[in-house]
This record gives sequence, structure tokens and C-alpha cells, in this order.
Amino acid sequence: LRMTLNKIHHFHEGKISLIIVLRDVTKEENLEQMRKDFVANVSHELRTPLTTLKSYLEALDEGAIEDPELAHRFIKVTRYETDRMIRLVNDLLQLSRLDEKKIKLKRSLVSVREMIEDVIDRFSFQARQRSIELTLDLPDYLPTIELDRDQIDQVLDNLISNAIKYTGDQGKVRVIARLKQNRLFIEVEDTGIGIPKKHLSRLFERFYRVDKARSRELGGTGLGLAIAHEIIKAHHGEIEVESEVGKGTKVRFFIPITTTKED
Ligand code: ADP
Repeated sequence: LRMTLNKIHHFHEGKISLIIVLRDVTKEENLEQMRKDFVANVSHELRTPLTTLKSYLEALDEGAIEDPELAHRFIKVTRYETDRMIRLVNDLLQLSRLDEKKIKLKRSLVSVREMIEDVIDRFSFQARQRSIELTLDLPDYLPTIELDRDQIDQVLDNLISNAIKYTGDQGKVRVIARLKQNRLFIEVEDTGIGIPKKHLSRLFERFYRVDKARSRELGGTGLGLAIAHEIIKAHHGEIEVESEVGKGTKVRFFIPITTTKED
């Protein structure tokens, strides 16, 4: 607990009274610290690829450009790093939009089945390349419900891309959807590396990663789960992670169903 202390001396009819005001500033100081950490993280995340870019461009300028094979390799690295920076800046922009509570969800009637099948299609190539079995487990009946499709798409993208990223070749990724008491429940399950217990409670923090080097190597920004968390919160839902090291991870979320249309 952190306190600030204000003493006010008060003179009245020859008597001195003393008023002491104690104010708990723990929350404000925590917020301030979080803001500082965030800025430090962003700067660091941008500086790393920029430093790489600079050194590769210098090497090209100092002669590597004369060797077509080398030049090609170096340019590939600079493109990769540029892509990562673009991803990072896009993620940051999206988080800042989500922080602006004024932004309204663009809700429309969406077929949950179609939405999930589409997202699976988008990842099927990537999964096949690494012999990962990507499967769907949907109930016979899934209604059309009101939600912000772009945003829920983004949550599904983030969860499935993580499941694939953190699962070895020949692993399995499964997307399960269910309806339970007026709630839509979606789970992404993988047979990947898993997450040690002590990290579970912090995964939704911005830039929190279990293994920084590994995440960067795989092209991660450390913001995917933070974005998913904000989007689910905006839909008045909840998101949670269950995991066992070496066995796999389950990330599940639910959102309350407001309006549905019978198909
Ligand atoms: P990143 O861009 O680093 O993947 P995320 O915010 O999406 O960032 O995830 C935060 C961290 O949580 C990751 O760096 C990784 O350590 C861990 N993580 C997320 N999903 C999984 C998963 N399916 N299996 C194992 N670890 C995961």
C-alpha cells in the first residue's frame, strides 16, 4: 500500500487543530508504472528490428549488393523485419482503438458455423505445411448470432495462430464450439509445448511472453492475447487458459448471445 500524507494546521480561537488526510495512491502508481513499462516495451520492440535493418542495409551498401545471392538473402531479412514491425504497429493501433471505449462494436447477424469454417480455411495451408492436424468440432445446430465479425475473427485468428505456432510438427489443433445457456463457447485446443502454471495469470498482459526469444523467432508481437482479451471484454464475455507443460494448451472464451435468428 502506498500513501500520500497531507497535514493541514488549523488555528481557531487559540486552539490548534490538525487534520490529516491520507490518500491511497497504490492504484495510480501502479497505472503509472504500467504506462512506463508499456512505453519501454514498445520502444524496445521497435528498436530491435530497426537495428537489424540498419546493419543489413549497411552491409549491402558496403559491398554485399555486388553479390546477388548474398544481396537476396539480406533483402529477405529486411523484408521479414519490416513485416514484423508493421504487424506490431497494427496491433498497437488496434489496442489503442480498443482502449478508446467510445468505439462501438459493429454488431451484425453472423453465422457462427460459417465464421469458424472460414477461419479454419485460412489456416489449413499453414497447418498442412507442418503436418499439423487442424480439426473442427461443431454441434449440429449453431445459430446466427449478433456479434462484431471482424473482431471475433481476429480473436479466432490469434488463438489458432498461437496454437499452430506453439505446437510441433505432426501435432493436433482442434477448434470446438458449443452453445450453453445463452452463451457461445469456443475453445482452441492444441497438443503443443504448453505453458508453466506460474505464467498463466499474466498471459493476457501486453507484451507478456513465456519465452521472449522463441516468440520473436516465430514472428510474435506479444500482443495477440491482450487484443483477444480486450475484444472479448467488449463483448461482455470471458476468456481463460488451461495448460499443461509438454501436453498442450486450451484457450477458451464465451460470449453472451444477445440476438439470435433461427436458421
Ligand atoms: P505472441 O505474439 O508472443 O505469441 P501472445 O499475446 O499471442 O503473444 O501470447 C503471449 C504468450 O503466451 C506467448 O509468447 C507464448 O509464450 C504463450 N502462448 C500463447 N498461446 C500459446 C499456446 N497455444 N501454447 C503455448 N504457449 C502459448
